Amino acid sequence: MSEIFDIAIIGSGIAGAGLAAMLGDKANILLLEAESAPGYHATGRSAAFWSETYGGPAVQPLTSATGPKLKAGGFLSPRGIAHVADKDGLEALKQLQDNFADTSVVLTPLDRKDIEATGGRLKEGWDLGLKEGSCEDIDVGALHAHFLSIAQKSGTHLKTYNRVTGLKRLDGYWQIKTTRDEFKAKRVVNAAGAWASEVAALAGALPIVITPYRRTMIQLQVSPTPPAEMPLIMDALTRFYFKPEDGNRIWLTPHDEHAQAPADVAPEEIDIALAIDRFSKAADWKIEKVERCWAGLRSFSPDRAPVYGADPLAEGFFWCAGQGGFGIQTSVAGSMLAACLLLGEELPDWMAEVDPTRYRPDRFR
Ligand SMILES: Cc1cc2nc3c(=O)[nH]c(=O)nc-3n(C[C@H](O)[C@H](O)[C@H](O)COP(=O)(O)OP(=O)(O)OC[C@H]3O[C@@H](n4cnc5c(N)ncnc54)[C@H](O)[C@@H]3O)c2cc1C
Repeated sequence: MSEIFDIAIIGSGIAGAGLAAMLGDKANILLLEAESAPGYHATGRSAAFWSETYGGPAVQPLTSATGPKLKAGGFLSPRGIAHVADKDGLEALKQLQDNFADTSVVLTPLDRKDIEATGGRLKEGWDLGLKEGSCEDIDVGALHAHFLSIAQKSGTHLKTYNRVTGLKRLDGYWQIKTTRDEFKAKRVVNAAGAWASEVAALAGALPIVITPYRRTMIQLQVSPTPPAEMPLIMDALTRFYFKPEDGNRIWLTPHDEHAQAPADVAPEEIDIALAIDRFSKAADWKIEKVERCWAGLRSFSPDRAPVYGADPLAEGFFWCAGQGGFGIQTSVAGSMLAACLLLGEELPDWMAEVDPTRYRPDRFR
């Protein structure tokens, strides 16, 4: 292909698609995807919720700025979280409240009666909690499709089945070699999710270690049927969380984190067993069936905050990686931050709480 692109984005998950949408027609964009379709990896495997506390205080400004945008777009529906504790988790519950004391996040005390009133069936000993009423479910498929649609309407060229295998800087351009083709672009964006460190190595960029961690999700059928409006129930010690799905279903995770090489991951039996054991000890439902299980990779930088900005070593190489377990709920603000940094523009007013220097790659130099 002889066309020279302004920006080549590597990876078409929520990070790459969101960025392409925010850049719109302000640049001539190539979106390269290794798989046959966008969203095959982490983006297509999430638990699909938006929570201001999830990811901690460093991530919260991006989450809080994204929420109203997702709401206005019709991508959210009310869920709420009941953070619950047994006797071992009381300190963690207090810590959670302390962590967000100086923020706009509202956490209010819950007792057993409050939890039961929302349909939460917990066993003896799970008596206290905190309500995070602002949590919402995200329609991830619709959001991702929306980003891709905006990008394509603005002229972005999406090329699937094109895994980037070589990056070479020559005469002020990146020569990009993929499994199918060769391309040329002025700048390259690393939105490769679990593969971000590998892509950075191809470019000779700063060797930031983005570690992929496997997380298991399980869909159970239970009785009695949990109320559809029941909140997500999260263990304060993060040994599990679960939330109701269609009909008599529950989505459950043992909140596992297994570091591993990037790959098309599948759940392991030990994690499924662990999840069921933890659920059965805390929750008072009968498990009728384990209907399906899946796993995905949540990829974190060393300080578990995302990485947005120009690489300090490789000219024209830009980071949009390390979205960990919060890449969907931060997607609008994260993508806008990346787009403004690439275009040299100021952040919009609705991102006033976000410090654009907080996520720079050179913090790992
Ligand atoms: C089980 C689970 C539950 C989660 N729950 C939530 C949640 O409730 N809320 C939330 O906000 N977040 C959640 N997350 C996190 C969220 O899914 C991720 O943060 C987000 O999807 C990351 O998006 P991404 O675009 O960076 O990565 P991905 O979606 O993995 O996209 C990266 C893309 O890059 C492509 N790629 C890689 N290397 C190359 C290459 N060399 N050339 C071309 N293409 C390449 C890959 O094929 C892939 O499609 C969850 C994640 C998991 C696994």
